[in-house]
Amino acid sequence: MAAWEAIVVGGGPGGSTAAWRLALTGVRTLVLDAAVFPRVKICAGWVTPAALTDLELDPEKYPLTIQGFAACALAYRGARHETRWRRPASYGIIRREFDRYLLERAAAAGADVRDGIRVRAVAAGAESVRVETDAGAYEAAVVIGAGGHRCPVAQSLGDVSLREEVVVAQESETRLPAGRLAGLQHLMGAPELYVEPDLRGYGWYFPKGDFINVGIGCTRGADGSLPRRREALLAALHASGRLPADLPLEPFRGHAYAVRRQAPRRLSGARFCLVGDAAGLARDLSGEGIGPAIRSGRLAAEAASALLRRRVALEGYARRIRDLYGDGEAGWLRRRVAGLPDAVARASVRLVLGSAAARRRVVFGSIFGMREEEET
Ligand SMILES: Cc1cc2nc3c(=O)[nH]c(=O)nc-3n(C[C@H](O)[C@H](O)[C@H](O)COP(=O)(O)OP(=O)(O)OC[C@H]3O[C@@H](n4cnc5c(N)ncnc54)[C@H](O)[C@@H]3O)c2cc1C
Repeated sequence: MAAWEAIVVGGGPGGSTAAWRLALTGVRTLVLDAAVFPRVKICAGWVTPAALTDLELDPEKYPLTIQGFAACALAYRGARHETRWRRPASYGIIRREFDRYLLERAAAAGADVRDGIRVRAVAAGAESVRVETDAGAYEAAVVIGAGGHRCPVAQSLGDVSLREEVVVAQESETRLPAGRLAGLQHLMGAPELYVEPDLRGYGWYFPKGDFINVGIGCTRGADGSLPRRREALLAALHASGRLPADLPLEPFRGHAYAVRRQAPRRLSGARFCLVGDAAGLARDLSGEGIGPAIRSGRLAAEAASALLRRRVALEGYARRIRDLYGDGEAGWLRRRVAGLPDAVARASVRLVLGSAAARRRVVFGSIFGMREEEET
């Protein structure tokens, strides 16, 4: 009998969720990750209530840093609008802590987790998949690719295309010294989003626990302009007093990742499924990638388990992902919006952001997944 039935490549939220679900259904699962956990993950660390529900995680019981927020501000071209909810509409976590917690939960459920092992190549045969690593080769009946934007499973089996839309983003996450925390307490719990004047991305100011996360992301079309945008964001934060100019920030770091727009990857084949960033599932307007990684991790585990136990083909997984996140091609509304002259697009955004109802329903509700039912 082969040692493992399923191999999960990558132990981020997508991989750890898949491994956790597989192990719970009794599938012998191996997780391989190149990094040694706890590892740094560049991310603002904003998670939606839906993502926590998919994880079956009660925020009240999560034992590490978690900050619920019941207010969020949106700034665009000099105007600032704040939206408030009665209860937390989203949460902030620290990825280093969160990802290790989820991976340890997968191990506790029975997955064999091996970190510090880099996967180099993956080859699918008729009966099994062979995963080549720095530490030798592993085989199983099915492989789940959860290795992020440059996932080796996606590179080997997913027909990754150059046509994909990529977001470039940078963030700095700084733990506030105890002496500074008290003075900044009034700002905690109310993140702020700064929509870029040309609508190609947005910056964020995200206080959580005793950390402040500041970052900026924009589409590849705006490539090369990220440092200028970052400096403009910092200048605005200093000017508004949200970020004291003498507070030393950790260095900004970032990377690119594919969003669900023109995403023609093969999401599954006879013996593999791709999840999370490996599948290019981050939402295009918000850049949210943790929730889609977790949801797809669950679905991939269900599909792999059905293949192993009932010989149900994995193709159904790709269909379920398309039903959930679309096929990546622009819909009617997005095509119309993309065709608008710049001045009209900016005026429309100003109108939407200026309307309290549109902010709640469209911007925070639909785009950012902050779906608090009991709004004030
Ligand atoms: C600056 C920035 C800010 C962001 N902020 C947010 C946010 O606030 N909220 C949100 O929802 N999303 C955010 N995202 C997106 C989010 O971080 C990703 O979408 C999410 O981490 C995807 O999870 P994943 O499990 O698919 O991949 P990852 O979290 O990237 O995990 C992949 C894992 O695979 C491992 N791996 C990679 N290559 C190999 C290999 N060859 N062999 C073995 N292991 C390998 C890596 O070490 C890693 O642990 C942000 C992204 C950036 C760049």
